[in-house]
Amino acid sequence: MEKHKTFTVALCGNPNSGKTTLFNSLTGSHQRVGNYGGVTVETKEGICRYNNYRFRIVDLPGTYSLSAYSIEEIVTRDYLLHEKPDVVINVTDGTNLERNLYLTVQLRELAVPMVIALNMADEMDKRGLQVNLEVLSQDFGAPVVPTVGTRDLGMKELLDKVIEVGTGRWSGHDNPPIRYGDAIETELQKISQMIEDSRNSLPNGQAAGAKPATLIDSPKWLAIKLLENDQNIVQHLQQTHLWDSLSEQVQYSQKYLNSLFGEDPETIIAEQRYGFVRGVCRSVIRLTAEVRANYSDKIDLILTNRLLGLPIFAVMMYLTFWLVFTVGEYPMGWIESGIGHLAARLNEVWPAGQWQTLQSLLTDGVIAGVGGVIVFLPNIMLLFLALAMLEDTGYMARAAFIMDRMMKWVGLHGKSFIPMLTGFGCSVPGILGTRVLDNQRDRLTTMLVLPLMSCGARLTIYMLIIPAFFSGPRAALVMYAIYIIGILVAVLCARLLRSTLFQGETSPFVLELPPYRIPTFKAVVLHMWQRSWAYLQKAGTIILLMSILMWALTSFPKPSADKLASLTSRQTAEYQLQHSFAGRIGRTIEPVLKPMGFDWKIGTALIGAFAAKELFVSQMGIVYSLAEENPDTDQAQDTTEPLRRQLKANYSPLTGFCIMLFCLIATPCMATVAVTRRESGKWSWAMFQFWGLTLIAWILTTLVFQLGSLLRLGTS
Ligand code: GDP
Ligand code: MG
Repeated sequence: MEKHKTFTVALCGNPNSGKTTLFNSLTGSHQRVGNYGGVTVETKEGICRYNNYRFRIVDLPGTYSLSAYSIEEIVTRDYLLHEKPDVVINVTDGTNLERNLYLTVQLRELAVPMVIALNMADEMDKRGLQVNLEVLSQDFGAPVVPTVGTRDLGMKELLDKVIEVGTGRWSGHDNPPIRYGDAIETELQKISQMIEDSRNSLPNGQAAGAKPATLIDSPKWLAIKLLENDQNIVQHLQQTHLWDSLSEQVQYSQKYLNSLFGEDPETIIAEQRYGFVRGVCRSVIRLTAEVRANYSDKIDLILTNRLLGLPIFAVMMYLTFWLVFTVGEYPMGWIESGIGHLAARLNEVWPAGQWQTLQSLLTDGVIAGVGGVIVFLPNIMLLFLALAMLEDTGYMARAAFIMDRMMKWVGLHGKSFIPMLTGFGCSVPGILGTRVLDNQRDRLTTMLVLPLMSCGARLTIYMLIIPAFFSGPRAALVMYAIYIIGILVAVLCARLLRSTLFQGETSPFVLELPPYRIPTFKAVVLHMWQRSWAYLQKAGTIILLMSILMWALTSFPKPSADKLASLTSRQTAEYQLQHSFAGRIGRTIEPVLKPMGFDWKIGTALIGAFAAKELFVSQMGIVYSLAEENPDTDQAQDTTEPLRRQLKANYSPLTGFCIMLFCLIATPCMATVAVTRRESGKWSWAMFQFWGLTLIAWILTTLVFQLGSLLRLGTS
């Protein structure tokens, strides 16, 4: 270890937080007063020795922020940027934590090596303020040491931590700094990328001027400052060659964000910082005597109340669901009938007997496929509308707060709750809803297990099977059991994923409590539209391709005409399906299905269920040649009862249960696969989800069937 090394340590903090008192404690009489860099702001320097290390300690002027509004702020900031002290001690007044931590957030943005001195610990004790040091330390990625400057308490501990950070032995710095939400992060990324690029294009050591060159070492911080319209930074950068293109981008970003939020980016960024700090304080301060009475606090008193929080949350969720699924049913119905009409019209005007394959491709493949995508659109837009409002008003952060305890136990993030709940309606909007999660691991875990929330389409399968095999209270029991099994498997899978693939790096849950605000119409609509458009674009093309594939599988190869001549139209449909690739695949995979108690007929219907879960019922109807003559009329219901009788005659209740179990867990439908591919960015995740769930379903269903058969449960 390098003994006798000198560390430069800067004391940084709000006015009156006790910097000078700590400085005196540390340096005793070894100090000198000077003016910093030609301006009349006093800085003090002193020397301190401890454990064979030498510390050059600098007492910086007190500031509340690192913006450029006062000379103190600029001096402090320039010192940190250009002199690059080895360690910064952020002196905070523990009795005023919420105000003091605002500076701490900005120090964190600047990514300086930092130790937080939680000063005035004596005063905190007196007021009954307790702070969870560990959580505070995690949230800011810096060690926290309680100190009492006036009585020299905590100085050794403070210096120990300074040494740890200074020598790089402190390992907690990899914590992600705060995020400013998708819109701002995207703009920040663009700006910092430009800075990064132009830095790389500079020839080595020939950066344009000393000051800007050091500045450019922190592109993200610079980007934040530029969005905040920081005049000091603007002046620095104006001297460099990158300014022209950069200023154009910055102005564009500012304008865009301004139109989105109805406020300038500076205000929004400041609000985000306050939100972060409020969240941290909320989670680390116990027995708080610091009650700031602003309106957000007052609203929070009710919305995050121990007793009222959950019921209010339940009402909010109910309203969201009502909006998405009840209101959404109307446009969904219009679109469905519109598509039905379109297909019918096309069939009408089609010259009879000509180009029949093309006709079938257009009506059963393309129109049905595109229809399948567009039909979800109203629900998805409404869901995104609801989510945008929940997010932009600031309620989402509170909902996550309320649900976090429970979700954490499951291995998920508090914010996962809403997408998971949406999954009971339909997995597609649920998976799209995981966009509220910032962390990729949280998103992937949620996305992967989400299809286990039994969706509305699967309900049609249960409604077919349960009445066929179960009656009275047993019917309800089986229904509950299916839903509960889905949830349990999801919990197990999430925990498993968390302890294997997505292990270790679980970032501490920093709850951000942004102030409540009324969202602008434009921001909400834009949020909603951007997400919906992404769905249409990507999922749409994939679903279209898969629909055509499914169409081909069930329509080819065609049986010979003379074979069909002797059959009624019902039998034709059955024979056609048997003869098709899907029917053949059903037969081929029969050996794999056998252990679960399924025959090839069920297998063929399962292939249909991949296209859309509700197709299982109609495919089953076709294999048992119960298909209605004209699929465009409402007679579909009429086939359900005879089909149930057929099921009852051919299968045992155990098999019935196994079908439901398998459909619950296995093969998310192709819309889900497409949207998982789209949202995870990789086919491999979609395939992992697809085969993973199918494998789990196979194992579980086989187990249930074999055990059930052995114990003669529901076998007759
Ligand atoms: P600065 O503005 O950050 O340099 O703060 P000072 O060091 O001048 O301290 C401001 C006031 O807080 C002074 O009256 C100090 O005596 C007092 N003070 C500093 N540290 C402590 C502490 O740990 N406990 C208590 N009770 N008072 C302190
Ligand atoms: Mg002072």
